[in-house]
Amino acid sequence: MADTDFDYDLFVIGGGSGGVRAARVAAGEYGAKVALAEDDRYGGTCVIRGCVPKKLMVFASTYSDVVEEARSYGWDHRQGPFDWQDFRGRLTQELDRLEGVYRKLLANSGVETFDLRARLKDAHTVELADGTTKTAKHILVATGGHPVRPDLPNAELGIVSDDIFHLDQLPKSILIIGGGYIACEFACILRGLGVEVTQYYRGAQILRGFDDEARGLVAESMRDSGIDLHTGTNIVEMALAEDRKDGPQPTASAASMGAGVKQAAGRSGPVWVKSTNGGEKVFDMVLFATGRDPSSKDMGLEEIGVTLGRRGEIKVDEYSQTGVPSVYAIGDVTDRVNLTPVAIREGMAFVETVFGGNPTPVDHDLIPSAIFTQPEMGTVGLSEEEARDREPVEIYCTSFKPMQSAFAGKSDRVLMKLVVSRETRVVLGCHIVAPNAGELIQMAGIAVKAKLTKEQFDATCAVHPTMSEELVTMRKPVRTA
Ligand code: FAD
Repeated sequence: MADTDFDYDLFVIGGGSGGVRAARVAAGEYGAKVALAEDDRYGGTCVIRGCVPKKLMVFASTYSDVVEEARSYGWDHRQGPFDWQDFRGRLTQELDRLEGVYRKLLANSGVETFDLRARLKDAHTVELADGTTKTAKHILVATGGHPVRPDLPNAELGIVSDDIFHLDQLPKSILIIGGGYIACEFACILRGLGVEVTQYYRGAQILRGFDDEARGLVAESMRDSGIDLHTGTNIVEMALAEDRKDGPQPTASAASMGAGVKQAAGRSGPVWVKSTNGGEKVFDMVLFATGRDPSSKDMGLEEIGVTLGRRGEIKVDEYSQTGVPSVYAIGDVTDRVNLTPVAIREGMAFVETVFGGNPTPVDHDLIPSAIFTQPEMGTVGLSEEEARDREPVEIYCTSFKPMQSAFAGKSDRVLMKLVVSRETRVVLGCHIVAPNAGELIQMAGIAVKAKLTKEQFDATCAVHPTMSEELVTMRKPVRTA
């Protein structure tokens, strides 16, 4: 039963991964009276414009390789063309289905939903876009984040990751700006779908913050697959190619593609780009994967005393509570670890704390994660570089051609790496670059989270023949650091 002083026990703003989980557990398991406002589609970034549609595109993009490899195994399969419109139709249907599931989960838990934008009016009052106000004992802000374009004239000519899933046609050529996981994943996806991909990243190596050896192998594999990856390179100018009669002109393919590519500015067509090294090129499309900002603007947060960080992230304590005691925030809007399972855990911990009477801090330590490049990268714990700055370590590492693709005559390599404390023997980090590394790191993550030692890894019998058996058979360190 709701506290009689308020309309609801809990008002959640944002129907994404974190918000939906918190709302339905508070209502369904604790009997709280809960409302949720969502101004776009239920399921949020993960379901509608992130993890799910991206992973389905990853699957789509790998079939070209599978067909080629199957021929080496005696199958007479022939590569046909990829039909983007057909795939996009199925993708749209699947996302509609999933959105329906999310709506149903909320309804079945007794959560009242408002398909409207919401903002805070005071510490206990939410104002909806239709002008109505609702009061709640607790307010949970779970508004996520959004992609940002760089501060560059004509940047609106480029698309962002949200737009990829709605393209009328795939471009023949694309320039991807950025070196983070979203940039690299889309570079591999689009290359696999037959797009000519160029990628500019201003840093010295893509996937900043991950283990150097692992990201080095991903970069090399991306180049081998035909991605024209330029590090130490950025974009300095861009314009519609048709507005630059004196510059390089679109290739025939670029010119013919232009009509199908709608850019954010409303005008469409191939884009002329000048890079920091002075080069000028024309691409059918430019994708900015240059970062995401927390969605906290014009939410009334600062007005009621909630502190925001430099990029707009909501400042919270270990219980996801803001400086205003009735207001909590979880997920990407707090810019802690921006991953779906983390937003969900933060939502669960919030409910346990506020409705379960059991203060539960959120554990952000040793979170396994995957990058769905080709090959994938799975990682948990410290990189070699981070670990050696903290304590003396031993590095166990092997890189080899996996059986399946080697048989097909391909030069793909995989990497298995363990970072081990010399003093405690605990495995501090595990890094895998291999097909299905995301699946492998989920399992290895349990061992690393449990702080098992190298000797406990070694005491586990190998599963043969697999790639990951190397994780328990690396006897000698390749180096100490
Ligand atoms: P969101 O899921 O973004 O939900 C926030 C919701 O709030 C949105 O639906 C939004 O419309 C709504 N909203 C915003 N403001 C208001 C308002 N004022 N009123 C009402 N509603 C509002 N994570 C992984 O773990 N694995 C991956 O492989 C992965 N891949 C990704 C790929 C891409 C391209 C992107 C962009 C992200 C990816 N992520 C991945 C990150 C993951 O999607 C996010 O970490 C996760 O969705 C965050 O959940 P959230 O609940 O904080 O916010």
